[in-house]
Amino acid sequence: MISEWLVRNVTYPLHERLKGQRTVEAFSRVSGRDRWSPEELMAHQLDRLRHTITRAYERSSFYRSRFDEAGVSPGDLRSLDDLARFPLIDKSHLRRHREEMLVVGDAERSQLVKMRTSGSTGEPTIFYSDRQRIAHEWAVCWRARSWWGLDWGDRWFWLWGSKIELSSRKLVKKIRNRLLNRELLSSYKMSDALMASYVRRWRRCRPRYMYAYSSSAYLLARYILEQEVDLSPLAPRVIFTTADQLYPQMRETIERAFHSPVAEEYGSRDGGFVAHECPEGRSLHVHADRVVLELVAGDRPAAPGELGEIVLTLLDAVGLPLIRFRTGDLARPATGSCPCGRSLPVISSIEGRQLDMVQNREGQLIHAFALLDSMEDVEGLHQFRIIQEEHDRLVVEMVMADEDQPIPEEVVKTRMEKAFGHPLRVEFRRVESVQIEGSGKHRLVVSRITGSARVPSDSSVVGASPQT
Ligand SMILES: [Zn+2]
Repeated sequence: MISEWLVRNVTYPLHERLKGQRTVEAFSRVSGRDRWSPEELMAHQLDRLRHTITRAYERSSFYRSRFDEAGVSPGDLRSLDDLARFPLIDKSHLRRHREEMLVVGDAERSQLVKMRTSGSTGEPTIFYSDRQRIAHEWAVCWRARSWWGLDWGDRWFWLWGSKIELSSRKLVKKIRNRLLNRELLSSYKMSDALMASYVRRWRRCRPRYMYAYSSSAYLLARYILEQEVDLSPLAPRVIFTTADQLYPQMRETIERAFHSPVAEEYGSRDGGFVAHECPEGRSLHVHADRVVLELVAGDRPAAPGELGEIVLTLLDAVGLPLIRFRTGDLARPATGSCPCGRSLPVISSIEGRQLDMVQNREGQLIHAFALLDSMEDVEGLHQFRIIQEEHDRLVVEMVMADEDQPIPEEVVKTRMEKAFGHPLRVEFRRVESVQIEGSGKHRLVVSRITGSARVPSDSSVVGASPQT
């Protein structure tokens, strides 16, 4: 790791400039906006929204025909509420109509950056971002990190598995990470030996924060606690978690192991950085100056406290607009404002990705952490993964510390049946290691059923978390 001053003032700004990203300038632009009045924020949103929708209508054959079919045009957007009149799109549109969605001509195509989602949720999707959007996304991310007293000079650990970050040109990336004061740790095959090396690196580098998949941070935290490693003298300011579901038990375990608060981030490759938790509240501030976030239940907005699907409209995409993009992720509108005083709107912690929920025979969605609870005190359990194959059939893969250690199958099954409300067929499998997603995520609960389900407006979710 190198001098933080150097990274702050020289290498990071230079790196961004060489990539054609004016991130530092964008950061100056966005850094005061989290204190804008609600009126200022809404005026900004409406202005950007009009621009985005008009441009999409005029330049994209996909959006023009979708809007025409729905009988709406840019002139119908008189207030932010009017956005709900425009049609929804989802990942399948992005896969099939990517080129027709573009709003840049051939001459401007060089601004586009081809990206792909990691494919952890099924089929990989290719889409286009652009340099302006990327710079702006990082700017709001740095704004959120600044809430924790951090900036881009600080030493940090990046516990990540995406092949996109870990592949190709290894040496170049290594040098680049060194110059940016970030240590990249792989979330693949998190064996004890590898985690021991991460702890050694932690002692050596003393990172100020870590940015990790929730599941990977949780695995590392469990290892630290099991090995009774004392990290209290090396406590970071915060552990940022993202990408997969952060269950309350996981948050508590990570906080205990690292002697640090956990802050959840919500974002995705296609949507970018969308929302971050601040130090004062347990809700997430939406970066409403770059994205309009709607929570949709059925075909209407979710009521306060009601579960809704997150639908995004990007305000900073220059090349490929995303207008009312269904994410498949679920949250509730938070009630009230955050005690920190930042005016960016808040949502409750992300309650689930539809993929992380299971469904019982009656079609009720059940939070995966109701299942995690049933595994909580199994002795000698190292790692596990629960797979819902059918409505009443689960497979539980378990890595046990000792192969002779008995598994309390009946106890676990009874608890799971209680969560489901009906009998289950549960198969327990002892495995050497649990399978990791293509992206390097360790999803603890996988359902083969709920992936494509749309949240009905009257859905009741069993085992819903207490709102914190
Ligand atoms: Zn706040």
